Amino acid sequence: MAKHYVRFAPSPTGDLHLGHAFSALYAWHQAGQDSQHFQLRIDDLDHTRCREQFISSQIDDLGWLGISWDKEPLYQSSRLHRYRDALQFLKDKELVYPCYLSRKEVDAILSAPQEAPRLADALTDTEKQDRHDGGTEPAWRLDAQKIRQACPQLQWYDKQKGSQQVELATLDDCVIARRDIGASYDLSVVLDDFDSGISLVTRGQDLFAQTNLHRILQHVLGLPTPLYDHHDLIRDEAGKRLAKRDDAKSLKVMRQSGMSQQDILAILPLSLSK
Ligand code: GLU
Repeated sequence: MAKHYVRFAPSPTGDLHLGHAFSALYAWHQAGQDSQHFQLRIDDLDHTRCREQFISSQIDDLGWLGISWDKEPLYQSSRLHRYRDALQFLKDKELVYPCYLSRKEVDAILSAPQEAPRLADALTDTEKQDRHDGGTEPAWRLDAQKIRQACPQLQWYDKQKGSQQVELATLDDCVIARRDIGASYDLSVVLDDFDSGISLVTRGQDLFAQTNLHRILQHVLGLPTPLYDHHDLIRDEAGKRLAKRDDAKSLKVMRQSGMSQQDILAILPLSLSK
């Protein structure tokens, strides 16, 4: 199997659970179980939800699973300048616009029974200026109309599902830079994966649709597209997706109860030879 440079990118918002173990081991096997081919990225962009204590417990859990990496972990919080520069590039190309609407206002506009105005046009220029002068930080939204003009037909490739066409028609004016952070998950991962030389992005099926947006961002930022591999999600007995808040399933608890890495491997539906 050709080795890829892959990453595992947990957000330190809680302890890792079996679903993360699966995802991390999946990536580890795509890296040929070679620490030179594996990056740990700490997705700590959202300072409102991330906690220092979870970074060290997640690192401990990964070590316990037998996963290792050569380079220092990459912290998204150390890369805000990179995200800001990319946003500036998109501003200069007028592919994004500042949005001074509150979340409540956006929800009201989008759920209006009559045809809603474009979010970009929901406030008059004077209203925008007033909010700006009053100190409201804008979020930055993609201008979907302009993106449609700027993008040809785009594709990306998923190892499980094959070639995917990006549906530009359904793109909306999504936020790519939150007002409190100046970036977003989507903008940051595209830049991080490129800057790190990630050749295969492995992650859960829950992020499959999001990859269309990542492909669009790669195009407008002039970045190449890696290969993708969206794996199945681990579910509990009731078929529900595991969540970090479900303490009983955390790896830490399993580890403390005397389970071994082999026990975890035996539980997970890993056929990792491909
Ligand atoms: N940090 C993201 C998460 O925990 C994963 C990001 C990615 O794999 O692109 O869901």
